[in-house]
Amino acid sequence: MNYDNWKLATPDYSDLVTTCCGAEVETKESLAHDDKYDYCSCCGETDIEAIEPYEYEERKREDAAEFNRDDI
Ligand SMILES: [Zn+2]
Repeated sequence: MNYDNWKLATPDYSDLVTTCCGAEVETKESLAHDDKYDYCSCCGETDIEAIEPYEYEERKREDAAEFNRDDI
């Protein structure tokens, strides 16, 4: 799917999860930089990407499939 379409089709960002843990995405305001940044509510990682929960599941499945291929 086109990324812009995906964004338009997903107005509720609170449903997104982090790529590292599949946990909730938290937003923190940085007073020093007058900026906001997202971080993982599970591990605190700030270098994250917010994705749909089903996309996280898909990635996990792909990782598992990769692992199984190597195992044969
Ligand atoms: Zn995490």
